[in-house]
Amino acid sequence: MTNANSQERRAVIVVDMLRGFLEPGYPLDCGAAARAIIPAVRQKIEEEMAHGATILWVADNHAPDDKEFAMFPPHCIRGTAEAEIIPALADLVAPANLLPKTRYSGFYGTDLDARLARLRPDSITVVGVCTDICVMHTVADARNRDYAVVVPADCVATFDPEAHHFALDHMRRVLGATVIESRQQTADSRQQRKSE
Ligand SMILES: [Zn+2]
Repeated sequence: MTNANSQERRAVIVVDMLRGFLEPGYPLDCGAAARAIIPAVRQKIEEEMAHGATILWVADNHAPDDKEFAMFPPHCIRGTAEAEIIPALADLVAPANLLPKTRYSGFYGTDLDARLARLRPDSITVVGVCTDICVMHTVADARNRDYAVVVPADCVATFDPEAHHFALDHMRRVLGATVIESRQQTADSRQQRKSE
């Protein structure tokens, strides 16, 4: 692909944008705040694709007896609808870039590390859910490998607003990720103010 930034190698890690976390009725539905990021995530992925970025999808994909279910209710068991990428993004997924995972970090038990070592991205953008769980642990592992990491605040969410803010702050101040504030949130809050 040729474009203005073709010398720059970019990657996006999309974390757990799965039906089990983003559709109502599933045990780990992350709620309205999580559903609200879907358009911004889609826009971000499309922008990055236009810049030639490689999009890597890390996706919870558990065995029925996974030890994680000691902490969380069973969720995203392999082969179930819950473990599928949400329909609103599914058309963007290249199946070869879908990496099933069983722990919070997209690096654990996957070939994400090897793929990034081949890509050598100048920066990695991380989007998805949950800000304080799989997003933060994936960002930590990327930072531990010295990648420059960007987290657009409007493209990550969790079910716990306090944890969301803690995680953004921790990723910025402790892990050294660049957290960028959102145009969308600014527009939303402007709209909210107008309607008040
Ligand atoms: Zn899980």
